[in-house]
Amino acid sequence: MSAPAPTDRPVRTRIAPSPTGMMHIGTARTALFNWLYARHTGGKFLLRVEDTDRERSTDAAVQVILDGLKWLGMDWDEAPVFQFARADRHREVAAELLAKGEAYRDYMLPEELEAERERARAEGRVVRTPWRDADPSTWPDRAYAVRLKSPLDGETIVADAVKGEVRFQNAGLDDLILLRSDGNPTYNLAVVVDDHDMGITHVIRGDDHLSNAARQTIIYKAMGWDVPVWAHLPMIHGPDGAKLSKRHGAQSVTEFDDMGYLPETLRNYLAKLGWGHGDDEIFSDAQAAEWFDIHDVVSAPARLDWAKLNHVNNHYIRLAEPERLAGLVAKILKSRGVALKQGDAALIARTIPFVRDGAKTTLELADAVVFALKVRPLDVPEKTRTQLAEPEMAERFTKLRTALGEVADWSVPGLEESLRKFAESEGIGLGKFGPQLRAALSGGAPAPDLAGTMTALGRDESLGRIDDALSPAA
Ligand code: GLU
Repeated sequence: MSAPAPTDRPVRTRIAPSPTGMMHIGTARTALFNWLYARHTGGKFLLRVEDTDRERSTDAAVQVILDGLKWLGMDWDEAPVFQFARADRHREVAAELLAKGEAYRDYMLPEELEAERERARAEGRVVRTPWRDADPSTWPDRAYAVRLKSPLDGETIVADAVKGEVRFQNAGLDDLILLRSDGNPTYNLAVVVDDHDMGITHVIRGDDHLSNAARQTIIYKAMGWDVPVWAHLPMIHGPDGAKLSKRHGAQSVTEFDDMGYLPETLRNYLAKLGWGHGDDEIFSDAQAAEWFDIHDVVSAPARLDWAKLNHVNNHYIRLAEPERLAGLVAKILKSRGVALKQGDAALIARTIPFVRDGAKTTLELADAVVFALKVRPLDVPEKTRTQLAEPEMAERFTKLRTALGEVADWSVPGLEESLRKFAESEGIGLGKFGPQLRAALSGGAPAPDLAGTMTALGRDESLGRIDDALSPAA
Protein backbone atom coordinates (compact mmCIF):
# COMPACT_ATOMS: atom_id res chain seq x y z
CA MET A 1 0.00 0.00 0.00
CA SER A 2 1.43 3.37 -0.89
CA ALA A 3 1.43 6.28 1.55
CA PRO A 4 -1.54 8.64 1.34
CA ALA A 5 -1.05 11.61 -0.99
CA PRO A 6 0.31 14.79 0.68
CA THR A 7 -3.10 16.42 0.53
CA ASP A 8 -4.66 13.57 2.52
CA ARG A 9 -2.03 13.57 5.23
CA PRO A 10 -1.87 16.00 8.19
CA VAL A 11 -0.06 19.08 6.96
CA ARG A 12 3.66 19.35 7.68
CA THR A 13 5.48 22.44 6.44
CA ARG A 14 9.02 23.59 7.00
CA ILE A 15 11.39 26.48 6.75
CA ALA A 16 14.78 25.37 5.46
CA PRO A 17 17.21 28.27 5.76
CA SER A 18 20.88 28.09 4.92
CA PRO A 19 22.89 29.81 7.63
CA THR A 20 24.59 32.83 6.09
CA GLY A 21 25.00 35.02 9.15
CA MET A 22 21.83 37.00 8.53
CA MET A 23 18.16 36.23 8.20
CA HIS A 24 16.62 37.93 5.18
CA ILE A 25 13.17 39.42 5.59
CA GLY A 26 12.08 37.20 2.66
CA THR A 27 13.05 34.15 4.73
CA ALA A 28 10.98 35.55 7.58
CA ARG A 29 8.00 35.91 5.25
CA THR A 30 8.51 32.36 3.93
CA ALA A 31 8.67 31.09 7.51
CA LEU A 32 5.51 33.04 8.32
CA PHE A 33 3.51 31.52 5.46
CA ASN A 34 4.66 28.02 6.42
CA TRP A 35 3.87 28.72 10.07
CA LEU A 36 0.44 30.18 9.28
CA TYR A 37 -0.47 27.35 6.97
CA ALA A 38 0.51 24.75 9.58
CA ARG A 39 -1.44 26.61 12.25
CA HIS A 40 -4.40 27.05 9.86
CA THR A 41 -4.62 23.34 9.17
CA GLY A 42 -3.71 22.10 12.65
CA GLY A 43 -0.52 20.67 11.16
CA LYS A 44 3.13 21.02 12.08
CA PHE A 45 5.72 23.64 11.19
CA LEU A 46 9.27 22.27 11.16
CA LEU A 47 12.73 23.75 10.97
CA ARG A 48 15.54 22.33 8.91
CA VAL A 49 18.91 24.00 8.98
CA GLU A 50 20.61 23.55 5.60
CA ASP A 51 24.11 23.70 6.91
CA THR A 52 25.95 21.92 4.12
CA ASP A 53 28.15 24.91 3.33
CA ARG A 54 30.62 24.18 6.11
CA GLU A 55 32.42 27.48 5.84
CA ARG A 56 29.37 29.67 6.24
CA SER A 57 27.46 27.41 8.64
CA THR A 58 29.21 28.45 11.81
CA ASP A 59 27.53 28.06 15.19
CA ALA A 60 26.99 31.80 15.21
CA ALA A 61 25.31 31.74 11.79
CA VAL A 62 23.00 28.92 12.90
CA GLN A 63 22.20 30.87 16.04
CA VAL A 64 21.14 33.87 13.94
CA ILE A 65 18.41 31.70 12.42
CA LEU A 66 17.23 30.25 15.72
CA ASP A 67 17.23 33.70 17.33
CA GLY A 68 15.51 35.26 14.32
CA LEU A 69 12.65 32.77 14.36
CA LYS A 70 12.33 33.03 18.12
CA TRP A 71 12.29 36.81 17.96
CA LEU A 72 9.63 36.67 15.26
CA GLY A 73 7.57 34.44 17.53
CA MET A 74 7.35 31.62 15.01
CA ASP A 75 7.65 28.59 17.19
CA TRP A 76 8.59 25.42 15.36
CA ASP A 77 7.39 21.94 16.24
CA GLU A 78 9.75 19.02 16.83
CA ALA A 79 13.54 19.16 17.06
CA PRO A 80 15.29 21.04 14.24
CA VAL A 81 16.81 18.85 11.55
CA PHE A 82 20.39 19.59 10.52
CA GLN A 83 21.04 18.68 6.91
CA PHE A 84 24.77 18.10 7.01
CA ALA A 85 24.41 15.38 9.63
CA ARG A 86 22.17 13.45 7.23
CA ALA A 87 24.72 13.06 4.43
CA ASP A 88 24.90 9.27 4.91
CA ARG A 89 21.16 9.03 4.39
CA HIS A 90 21.46 11.12 1.22
CA ARG A 91 24.18 8.76 -0.06
CA GLU A 92 21.97 5.81 0.80
CA VAL A 93 19.18 7.19 -1.42
CA ALA A 94 21.66 7.87 -4.21
CA ALA A 95 22.76 4.22 -3.97
CA GLU A 96 19.12 3.16 -4.13
CA LEU A 97 18.59 5.23 -7.26
CA LEU A 98 21.68 3.63 -8.80
CA ALA A 99 20.37 0.17 -7.92
CA LYS A 100 17.01 0.96 -9.46
CA GLY A 101 18.64 2.19 -12.65
CA GLU A 102 17.25 5.67 -12.03
CA ALA A 103 20.74 7.07 -11.65
CA TYR A 104 24.12 6.28 -13.12
CA ARG A 105 27.82 6.67 -12.53
CA ASP A 106 29.39 9.52 -14.41
CA TYR A 107 33.15 9.21 -14.81
CA MET A 108 33.69 12.43 -16.72
CA LEU A 109 36.90 14.14 -15.69
CA PRO A 110 36.74 17.80 -14.68
CA GLU A 111 38.42 18.92 -17.91
CA GLU A 112 36.04 16.76 -20.00
CA LEU A 113 33.07 18.24 -18.20
CA GLU A 114 34.40 21.74 -18.80
CA ALA A 115 34.80 21.03 -22.53
CA GLU A 116 31.28 19.55 -22.70
CA ARG A 117 29.90 22.59 -20.91
CA GLU A 118 31.38 24.81 -23.59
CA ARG A 119 30.08 22.66 -26.42
CA ALA A 120 26.63 22.56 -24.84
CA ARG A 121 26.62 26.34 -24.44
CA ALA A 122 27.67 26.81 -28.08
CA GLU A 123 25.03 24.37 -29.30
CA GLY A 124 22.31 25.78 -27.05
CA ARG A 125 21.61 22.52 -25.25
CA VAL A 126 22.13 21.11 -21.78
CA VAL A 127 25.20 19.18 -20.69
CA ARG A 128 25.20 15.48 -21.57
CA THR A 129 27.68 12.82 -20.56
CA PRO A 130 28.71 9.72 -22.48
CA TRP A 131 28.36 7.61 -19.34
CA ARG A 132 24.55 7.68 -19.14
CA ASP A 133 24.12 4.31 -20.81
CA ALA A 134 27.67 3.02 -20.50
CA ASP A 135 28.28 -0.68 -20.11
CA PRO A 136 29.56 -1.44 -16.58
CA SER A 137 32.44 -3.36 -18.08
CA THR A 138 33.77 -0.02 -19.36
CA TRP A 139 33.76 1.67 -15.96
CA PRO A 140 37.23 2.96 -15.14
CA ASP A 141 38.76 2.58 -11.74
CA ARG A 142 38.34 6.12 -10.46
CA ALA A 143 35.96 8.31 -8.56
CA TYR A 144 32.62 9.05 -10.17
CA ALA A 145 29.72 11.39 -9.70
CA VAL A 146 26.19 10.02 -9.46
CA ARG A 147 23.73 11.56 -11.88
CA LEU A 148 19.97 11.24 -12.06
CA LYS A 149 18.74 9.56 -15.23
CA SER A 150 16.22 12.23 -16.10
CA PRO A 151 13.69 11.78 -18.90
CA LEU A 152 15.11 13.09 -22.18
CA ASP A 153 11.84 14.26 -23.64
CA GLY A 154 8.32 15.10 -22.57
CA GLU A 155 7.71 17.60 -19.82
CA THR A 156 7.71 17.85 -16.08
CA ILE A 157 4.79 19.73 -14.62
CA VAL A 158 5.04 21.60 -11.38
CA ALA A 159 1.49 22.09 -10.17
CA ASP A 160 2.13 25.08 -7.98
CA ALA A 161 -0.42 26.39 -5.49
CA VAL A 162 0.69 29.96 -6.20
CA LYS A 163 2.00 29.94 -9.77
CA GLY A 164 -0.46 27.47 -11.26
CA GLU A 165 0.75 24.74 -13.60
CA VAL A 166 4.33 25.42 -14.63
CA ARG A 167 5.67 23.23 -17.43
CA PHE A 168 9.32 22.37 -17.92
CA GLN A 169 10.60 20.72 -21.09
CA ASN A 170 12.67 17.74 -19.98
CA ALA A 171 15.07 18.29 -22.88
CA GLY A 172 16.06 21.49 -21.12
CA LEU A 173 16.97 19.75 -17.86
CA ASP A 174 20.36 18.09 -17.64
CA ASP A 175 20.94 14.91 -15.67
CA LEU A 176 21.23 16.33 -12.23
CA ILE A 177 24.29 15.46 -10.18
CA LEU A 178 23.11 13.75 -7.00
CA LEU A 179 26.50 12.93 -5.50
CA ARG A 180 29.69 14.71 -6.42
CA SER A 181 32.75 12.61 -7.12
CA ASP A 182 33.95 13.28 -3.56
CA GLY A 183 30.75 11.59 -2.35
CA ASN A 184 29.07 14.75 -1.18
CA PRO A 185 25.34 15.02 -1.85
CA THR A 186 24.05 17.99 -3.82
CA TYR A 187 21.41 20.44 -2.68
CA ASN A 188 18.56 19.00 -4.77
CA LEU A 189 19.10 15.45 -3.54
CA ALA A 190 19.44 16.50 0.09
CA VAL A 191 16.28 18.62 -0.02
CA VAL A 192 14.16 15.86 -1.51
CA VAL A 193 15.41 13.18 0.88
CA ASP A 194 14.99 15.44 3.88
CA ASP A 195 11.54 16.66 2.88
CA HIS A 196 10.45 13.09 2.27
CA ASP A 197 11.88 11.77 5.54
CA MET A 198 10.42 14.68 7.48
CA GLY A 199 7.02 13.90 5.98
CA ILE A 200 6.71 17.37 4.48
CA THR A 201 3.39 17.68 2.66
CA HIS A 202 3.71 21.30 1.45
CA VAL A 203 6.92 22.89 0.25
CA ILE A 204 6.35 26.63 0.59
CA ARG A 205 9.40 28.71 -0.36
CA GLY A 206 10.69 31.55 -2.50
CA ASP A 207 10.07 31.39 -6.24
CA ASP A 208 13.81 31.42 -6.89
CA HIS A 209 13.41 27.67 -6.28
CA LEU A 210 10.71 27.12 -8.90
CA SER A 211 12.97 25.39 -11.44
CA ASN A 212 14.46 23.25 -8.64
CA ALA A 213 10.90 22.01 -8.07
CA ALA A 214 10.96 20.46 -11.55
CA ARG A 215 14.25 18.68 -10.85
CA GLN A 216 13.09 17.63 -7.43
CA THR A 217 9.85 16.27 -8.88
CA ILE A 218 11.90 13.95 -11.07
CA ILE A 219 13.81 12.65 -8.02
CA TYR A 220 10.57 12.04 -6.11
CA LYS A 221 9.16 10.10 -9.03
CA ALA A 222 12.36 8.10 -9.48
CA MET A 223 12.11 7.05 -5.83
CA GLY A 224 8.40 6.33 -6.13
CA TRP A 225 7.70 8.91 -3.44
CA ASP A 226 4.72 11.27 -3.32
CA VAL A 227 5.50 14.71 -4.66
CA PRO A 228 4.62 17.37 -2.07
CA VAL A 229 2.33 20.27 -2.82
CA TRP A 230 4.49 23.10 -4.16
CA ALA A 231 3.89 26.73 -3.36
CA HIS A 232 6.47 29.21 -4.64
CA LEU A 233 6.19 32.68 -3.18
CA PRO A 234 6.87 35.89 -5.06
CA MET A 235 9.90 37.90 -4.06
CA ILE A 236 9.67 40.94 -1.83
CA HIS A 237 10.57 44.11 -3.68
CA GLY A 238 11.46 47.55 -2.41
CA PRO A 239 9.06 50.50 -2.84
CA ASP A 240 10.65 51.20 -6.27
CA GLY A 241 9.81 47.72 -7.56
CA ALA A 242 13.41 46.45 -7.54
CA LYS A 243 14.36 43.34 -5.56
CA LEU A 244 14.72 44.24 -1.89
CA SER A 245 18.32 45.10 -1.11
CA LYS A 246 20.51 47.09 1.23
CA ARG A 247 19.73 50.36 -0.44
CA HIS A 248 16.04 50.09 0.49
CA GLY A 249 17.00 50.68 4.10
CA ALA A 250 16.84 47.24 5.63
CA GLN A 251 16.71 43.63 4.56
CA SER A 252 17.53 41.47 7.55
CA VAL A 253 15.31 40.63 10.48
CA THR A 254 17.90 42.09 12.86
CA GLU A 255 17.84 45.39 10.97
CA PHE A 256 14.07 45.64 11.35
CA ASP A 257 14.50 44.93 15.06
CA ASP A 258 17.22 47.58 15.29
CA MET A 259 14.98 50.07 13.49
CA GLY A 260 12.37 49.68 16.20
CA TYR A 261 9.81 47.36 14.65
CA LEU A 262 8.00 44.88 16.88
CA PRO A 263 7.84 41.18 15.97
CA GLU A 264 4.03 41.21 15.95
CA THR A 265 4.21 44.09 13.47
CA LEU A 266 6.33 42.01 11.14
CA ARG A 267 4.06 38.99 11.49
CA ASN A 268 1.06 41.14 10.61
CA TYR A 269 2.73 43.20 7.91
CA LEU A 270 4.68 40.40 6.21
CA ALA A 271 1.45 38.41 5.93
CA LYS A 272 0.20 41.28 3.76
CA LEU A 273 3.10 40.84 1.35
CA GLY A 274 1.66 38.38 -1.11
CA TRP A 275 -1.44 37.49 0.85
CA GLY A 276 -4.25 39.42 2.46
CA HIS A 277 -7.69 39.22 3.91
CA GLY A 278 -9.74 41.76 2.01
CA ASP A 279 -8.61 45.26 2.91
CA ASP A 280 -7.77 44.36 6.51
CA GLU A 281 -4.51 46.04 7.50
CA ILE A 282 -4.49 44.84 11.07
CA PHE A 283 -5.17 41.32 12.22
CA SER A 284 -4.03 39.10 15.05
CA ASP A 285 -2.01 35.90 14.70
CA ALA A 286 -5.15 33.94 15.49
CA GLN A 287 -7.10 35.69 12.73
CA ALA A 288 -4.27 35.25 10.24
CA ALA A 289 -4.04 31.56 11.09
CA GLU A 290 -7.79 31.21 10.70
CA TRP A 291 -7.91 32.95 7.33
CA PHE A 292 -4.61 31.98 5.73
CA ASP A 293 -4.71 29.66 2.79
CA ILE A 294 -1.68 29.03 0.62
CA HIS A 295 -3.94 28.99 -2.43
CA ASP A 296 -4.81 32.66 -1.86
CA VAL A 297 -1.23 33.87 -2.20
CA VAL A 298 -0.79 36.07 -5.28
CA SER A 299 2.00 35.44 -7.72
CA ALA A 300 3.05 39.04 -8.41
CA PRO A 301 6.01 40.39 -6.42
CA ALA A 302 5.02 42.22 -3.27
CA ARG A 303 6.32 45.70 -2.49
CA LEU A 304 7.50 46.80 0.88
CA ASP A 305 5.67 49.98 1.86
CA TRP A 306 7.36 51.79 4.75
CA ALA A 307 4.35 54.02 5.47
CA LYS A 308 2.10 50.98 5.89
CA LEU A 309 4.70 49.18 7.97
CA ASN A 310 4.96 52.24 10.23
CA HIS A 311 1.20 52.40 10.55
CA VAL A 312 1.04 48.77 11.64
CA ASN A 313 3.94 49.25 14.05
CA ASN A 314 2.25 52.26 15.63
CA HIS A 315 -0.83 50.13 16.13
CA TYR A 316 1.12 47.45 18.01
CA ILE A 317 3.13 50.01 19.98
CA ARG A 318 -0.17 51.43 21.24
CA LEU A 319 -1.34 47.92 22.13
CA ALA A 320 1.77 46.57 23.86
CA GLU A 321 2.29 46.31 27.63
CA PRO A 322 4.17 49.43 28.80
CA GLU A 323 6.57 47.29 30.85
CA ARG A 324 7.58 45.32 27.79
CA LEU A 325 8.08 48.49 25.74
CA ALA A 326 10.05 49.99 28.63
CA GLY A 327 12.46 47.05 28.41
CA LEU A 328 12.94 47.68 24.69
CA VAL A 329 13.32 51.42 25.18
CA ALA A 330 15.84 50.90 27.99
CA LYS A 331 17.91 48.73 25.65
CA ILE A 332 17.83 51.43 22.96
CA LEU A 333 18.82 54.16 25.41
CA LYS A 334 21.68 52.06 26.77
CA SER A 335 22.91 51.49 23.22
CA ARG A 336 22.95 55.27 22.86
CA GLY A 337 25.15 55.53 25.92
CA VAL A 338 22.45 56.73 28.31
CA ALA A 339 23.19 55.50 31.83
CA LEU A 340 19.95 54.38 33.41
CA LYS A 341 19.42 54.67 37.14
CA GLN A 342 17.47 52.54 39.56
CA GLY A 343 13.78 53.14 39.00
CA ASP A 344 14.20 54.43 35.44
CA ALA A 345 12.58 51.35 33.92
CA ALA A 346 9.45 51.96 35.99
CA LEU A 347 9.55 55.66 35.10
CA ILE A 348 9.80 54.79 31.38
CA ALA A 349 6.87 52.37 31.72
CA ARG A 350 4.84 55.08 33.45
CA THR A 351 5.71 57.61 30.75
CA ILE A 352 5.01 55.39 27.73
CA PRO A 353 1.19 55.61 27.81
CA PHE A 354 1.50 59.40 27.46
CA VAL A 355 3.90 59.43 24.54
CA ARG A 356 3.21 56.35 22.46
CA ASP A 357 0.32 57.51 20.31
CA GLY A 358 2.56 59.24 17.81
CA ALA A 359 5.42 56.73 17.88
CA LYS A 360 6.02 54.80 14.68
CA THR A 361 8.95 52.84 16.09
CA THR A 362 10.44 52.03 19.47
CA LEU A 363 13.33 54.36 18.51
CA GLU A 364 10.83 57.20 18.42
CA LEU A 365 9.41 55.97 21.69
CA ALA A 366 12.91 56.18 23.17
CA ASP A 367 13.22 59.80 21.97
CA ALA A 368 9.86 60.58 23.53
CA VAL A 369 10.75 59.44 27.07
CA VAL A 370 14.04 61.31 27.29
CA PHE A 371 12.37 64.28 29.06
CA ALA A 372 11.33 62.05 31.95
CA LEU A 373 14.82 60.66 32.54
CA LYS A 374 16.52 64.01 32.90
CA VAL A 375 18.19 64.64 36.20
CA ARG A 376 17.46 67.75 38.27
CA PRO A 377 18.25 70.53 37.99
CA LEU A 378 17.27 70.56 34.32
CA ASP A 379 18.95 72.72 31.80
CA VAL A 380 15.97 74.98 31.13
CA PRO A 381 16.13 76.89 27.83
CA GLU A 382 17.52 80.42 28.09
CA LYS A 383 14.29 81.96 26.81
CA THR A 384 12.21 80.36 29.57
CA ARG A 385 14.71 81.38 32.22
CA THR A 386 14.49 84.99 31.11
CA GLN A 387 10.71 84.88 31.10
CA LEU A 388 10.54 83.33 34.57
CA ALA A 389 12.83 86.06 35.87
CA GLU A 390 10.26 88.72 34.98
CA PRO A 391 8.40 89.78 38.19
CA GLU A 392 4.88 89.18 36.85
CA MET A 393 5.73 85.74 35.54
CA ALA A 394 7.69 84.83 38.66
CA GLU A 395 4.71 85.74 40.80
CA ARG A 396 2.33 83.76 38.60
CA PHE A 397 4.58 80.74 38.71
CA THR A 398 4.88 80.88 42.48
CA LYS A 399 1.10 80.82 42.71
CA LEU A 400 0.93 78.02 40.18
CA ARG A 401 3.48 76.06 42.20
CA THR A 402 1.31 76.49 45.29
CA ALA A 403 -1.84 75.44 43.41
CA LEU A 404 -0.16 72.36 42.05
CA GLY A 405 1.25 71.54 45.47
CA GLU A 406 -2.31 71.32 46.70
CA VAL A 407 -3.54 68.89 44.04
CA ALA A 408 -4.91 65.90 45.88
CA ASP A 409 -5.56 63.73 42.83
CA TRP A 410 -2.23 63.63 40.96
CA SER A 411 -3.59 62.22 37.75
CA VAL A 412 -4.42 63.51 34.29
CA PRO A 413 -8.00 64.56 35.20
CA GLY A 414 -6.92 65.95 38.60
CA LEU A 415 -4.09 67.98 37.08
CA GLU A 416 -6.14 69.16 34.13
CA GLU A 417 -8.76 70.47 36.51
CA SER A 418 -6.17 72.19 38.67
CA LEU A 419 -4.56 73.87 35.62
CA ARG A 420 -7.95 74.98 34.35
CA LYS A 421 -8.95 76.40 37.73
CA PHE A 422 -5.65 78.21 38.05
CA ALA A 423 -6.08 79.83 34.63
CA GLU A 424 -9.61 80.85 35.58
CA SER A 425 -8.63 82.34 38.92
CA GLU A 426 -5.88 84.33 37.22
CA GLY A 427 -8.23 85.37 34.43
CA ILE A 428 -5.74 84.21 31.80
CA GLY A 429 -5.55 81.52 29.15
CA LEU A 430 -3.32 78.46 29.41
CA GLY A 431 -1.12 80.00 26.75
CA LYS A 432 0.12 82.56 29.26
CA PHE A 433 1.96 80.04 31.40
CA GLY A 434 1.70 76.64 29.68
CA PRO A 435 4.77 76.87 27.45
CA GLN A 436 6.96 78.01 30.34
CA LEU A 437 5.63 75.27 32.61
CA ARG A 438 6.31 72.75 29.91
CA ALA A 439 9.87 73.96 29.43
CA ALA A 440 10.45 73.87 33.18
CA LEU A 441 9.18 70.29 33.34
CA SER A 442 10.94 68.94 30.27
CA GLY A 443 14.02 71.09 29.93
CA GLY A 444 12.95 71.81 26.38
CA ALA A 445 12.83 68.13 25.29
CA PRO A 446 9.73 66.87 23.49
CA ALA A 447 7.08 65.99 26.07
CA PRO A 448 3.38 65.13 26.11
CA ASP A 449 0.73 67.62 27.27
CA LEU A 450 1.14 69.18 30.69
CA ALA A 451 -1.09 66.88 32.71
CA GLY A 452 0.42 63.82 31.04
CA THR A 453 3.95 65.05 31.61
CA MET A 454 3.31 65.70 35.29
CA THR A 455 1.52 62.39 35.79
CA ALA A 456 4.42 60.52 34.22
CA LEU A 457 6.99 62.42 36.32
CA GLY A 458 5.01 62.06 39.55
CA ARG A 459 4.32 64.74 42.13
CA ASP A 460 7.73 65.13 43.77
CA GLU A 461 9.71 65.23 40.55
CA SER A 462 7.27 67.64 38.88
CA LEU A 463 7.19 70.05 41.80
CA GLY A 464 10.93 69.76 42.21
CA ARG A 465 11.52 70.69 38.57
CA ILE A 466 9.23 73.72 38.93
CA ASP A 467 11.06 74.76 42.12
CA ASP A 468 14.38 74.49 40.31
CA ALA A 469 13.12 76.68 37.51
CA LEU A 470 11.85 79.27 39.96
CA SER A 471 15.08 79.52 41.88
CA PRO A 472 17.86 78.62 39.48
CA ALA A 473 21.26 78.09 40.98
CA ALA A 474 23.25 81.27 40.69
N1 GLU B 1 18.09 26.37 1.85
C1 GLU B 1 17.34 26.99 0.79
C2 GLU B 1 17.46 28.49 0.88
O1 GLU B 1 17.81 29.00 1.93
C3 GLU B 1 15.89 26.66 0.84
C4 GLU B 1 15.56 25.35 0.29
C5 GLU B 1 14.11 25.05 0.22
O2 GLU B 1 13.29 25.76 0.86
O3 GLU B 1 13.79 24.06 -0.42
O4 GLU B 1 17.20 29.14 -0.09
